Amino acid sequence: MNYESIIGLEVHAQLATKSKMFCACSTAFGNPPNSNICPVCMGAPGALPVVNFAAVEMAIKAGLAFGSQIQHKSIFARKNYFYPDLSKGYQISQYEFPLCLGGHLDIPLASGETKRISITRIHMEEDAGKLTHDYGHAEKSHVDFNRCGVGLIEIVSGPDMRTPQEAADYFRKVRQILVYLGVCHGNMQEGNLRCDANVSIRKVGDTKLGTRTEMKNLNSFKAVERAIAYEINRQIAAVERGEIIIQETLLWDDAAGKSASLRSKEDAHDYRYFPDPDLLPLIVTTDWIEGIRKQLPELAAAKAARFVRDYGIPEYDAEVLTAERDMALYYEKCIAVYNSPKKISNWIMTELLRELKNEGIDITACRITPEHLAQLVTLIDDGIISGKIGKDVFEEMYTTGHAPAAIIDTKGLKLVSDTSELDAIIERVLSTNQKQVEQYKSGKVAVFGFLVGQVMKETKGQASPQVVNELLKKKLS
Ligand code: ZN
Ligand code: MN
Repeated sequence: MNYESIIGLEVHAQLATKSKMFCACSTAFGNPPNSNICPVCMGAPGALPVVNFAAVEMAIKAGLAFGSQIQHKSIFARKNYFYPDLSKGYQISQYEFPLCLGGHLDIPLASGETKRISITRIHMEEDAGKLTHDYGHAEKSHVDFNRCGVGLIEIVSGPDMRTPQEAADYFRKVRQILVYLGVCHGNMQEGNLRCDANVSIRKVGDTKLGTRTEMKNLNSFKAVERAIAYEINRQIAAVERGEIIIQETLLWDDAAGKSASLRSKEDAHDYRYFPDPDLLPLIVTTDWIEGIRKQLPELAAAKAARFVRDYGIPEYDAEVLTAERDMALYYEKCIAVYNSPKKISNWIMTELLRELKNEGIDITACRITPEHLAQLVTLIDDGIISGKIGKDVFEEMYTTGHAPAAIIDTKGLKLVSDTSELDAIIERVLSTNQKQVEQYKSGKVAVFGFLVGQVMKETKGQASPQVVNELLKKKLS
């Protein structure tokens, strides 16, 4: 029997605001537990929430980037449920009237074509706190409310993805756009960006959707792919055994590579949503929306196209360089110092990306400044050092963060172009290689390369190859 899988994602993205969604508490990550809290985000009686203007602006920005209709009037609602990490007993979210409706995102397919994934809605809500169960007391759990009340947007896709790979590609693209917009840091280790996957299967040809399960809190691209693949296989096996899929919420255990049932799935009506009486409807004027539209930055695809057009680099280079906004910024800073787009692209794509990957850091933590990288390429082009020595200088720059000129000076790596110094070395090489000199003179020109090699060896690679060639030719003629 042939099955197809139907996948939809709900992406939760933490907004990159300094303060929380409805109070002035800091959103800083990694502070001592329960240090960024106040009566509002803890839900103390009588405390009143106030909407964070910057958070709304970021949500509108995201909506515009995904082609959503920004709603002039949206409503904050209370989503009621008990959980130990939610002291209020409800989460402020948006339900019937979200801020953004509709939209879409095109993802690249392996075939080179793109596929359009629809976006159903983007709504605003607040985050919950965090439970920790592993402080060394098997019988105790700890709760940190610092994250409670941090602004989120939830981006809900249509059930348009058909493979785990498509889902991961979509998630990757969503992250790229949010980071480019500056509305989310996209740091998945810190929980900035999480996604839940709704998965169902049906026989190929069926038009009715099967019962779906929801997989919670997938926080890496790999986890999304593995968890969905696992769930598809689990559902197919169950159906083949004649079982009925039940609607439930599952928790993915990435280390174990399997999922476990968290609870039977609740429906929206279980939450008893109602408009939050402490918050007025959110009114967004056309002027406000259009003002934000004007501030939208250039996104990755447009940037890549511009790199190809303006810098004349191959499409592949442009795609790699624009995959992360900070990398694209780094590249353009290099170009501003030394306008040699392809050479700089080569250094970044080979040497720099390899080192960053080995160390597991991103470009913002790189010790080589764009100015220094551009200077290195300039020094090679000017014949001050050879390309080969350039690689050694690069290694040193990567470890120490020092300027290339300083490294070349202290290590004495400058190419020897001083002819009198080279003259003496060449004389010595010719007298110790009489046989090869005679071969050359009798017409075996290939020996020339050998002689150049000997001179380079004597100078430990620091002779200017161009000068050596000239001098050697003169002496042998
Ligand atoms: Zn607070
Ligand atoms: Mn949510």
